[in-house]
Amino acid sequence: ESKRTGRNRVTLFKNEMATQAAELLRLERDIMKAMFRDEFFFVLQPLVDSDTHRLVGAEALMRWRKDGEIVSPGEFIPFLEESALIVDVGERILNAICEYIADLIQRKMMFDDFKIAVNISAKQLARHDFIDCVSRILKKHNIDGTYLEFEITESVALDNKDDTIHKIDILKKMGISFSLDDFGTGYSSLSHLKDLDVNKLKIDRSFVNDITHDPQDEKLVRSIIQLSRNLGLVTVAEGVETQAQVEWLMLQGEILLQGYYFSKPLLPEAFESKYLTQEAAMSR
Ligand code: C2E
Ligand code: MG
Ligand code: MG
Ligand code: MG
Repeated sequence: ESKRTGRNRVTLFKNEMATQAAELLRLERDIMKAMFRDEFFFVLQPLVDSDTHRLVGAEALMRWRKDGEIVSPGEFIPFLEESALIVDVGERILNAICEYIADLIQRKMMFDDFKIAVNISAKQLARHDFIDCVSRILKKHNIDGTYLEFEITESVALDNKDDTIHKIDILKKMGISFSLDDFGTGYSSLSHLKDLDVNKLKIDRSFVNDITHDPQDEKLVRSIIQLSRNLGLVTVAEGVETQAQVEWLMLQGEILLQGYYFSKPLLPEAFESKYLTQEAAMSR
């Protein structure tokens, strides 16, 4: 009796694995097709200064237009990262963003110090040819690294820390700046903060969420801002959704804000008409 149950369970498990494997295979095929059909694109979310509420940059976020519907990265990035596909898709997105930057420069829409931030996964950074890939793309579009920022998470330091530190150093020499994304959610944040020579620290949305009604989160975020400031880093609060959060964050001094309160991620055209047109005019 128990033997039979056991065997059934094994069969069930095998079936489950087979289903999962089939699903992964389908997803992989869909993504290859999506690359071929050019179904990946990016949207832009503004970063604003807490003092002036003026635009200081934007984060590019990947989207997938699949059978007429827009798929969010949460649904496919983890899979992309597990397979090696993140390298190809990531390169595609970086190329698209650099092409866009060149276009903005040409149309005189790029103003001083404006940077577009791109999320770079640990897998991409770990590639031996990542630096070559980046410099090839910059050269192809004839743009300077200073228009770019790479958002990395603490996971980049898990595999080969020295290699990561070395690569960040080279990329910074190319003018690219770095921000440490989702700060506070990874492992042993402090040692990574010490070793990774980043310019910005982005406080994860999960902490920002409760600053106005959870005293613990309030203390935590205040300390993170202090820490970031003491290290000479620019601080970004992500996931800012309410007026109350904005007011609380403004009291903490100079800090950059990003979130639905200001804007959801927008298609480049909408981003331009809502933000870039006036900023470009003001800085001229
Ligand atoms: P992230 O880099 O931490 O990006 C912030 C996420 O928070 C984005 O989700 C953004 O749309 C969302 N968000 C911004 N403001 C608010 C807010 O006020 N409230 C709420 N609830 N959410 C807000 P999204 O676009 O779904 O991206 C999710 C994650 O996928 C990103 O988190 C990033 O880790 C990854 N990702 C996105 N694009 C790329 C990419 O091109 N390459 C790589 N490797 N990863 C990417
Ligand atoms: Mg990010
Ligand atoms: Mg983030
Ligand atoms: Mg995040």
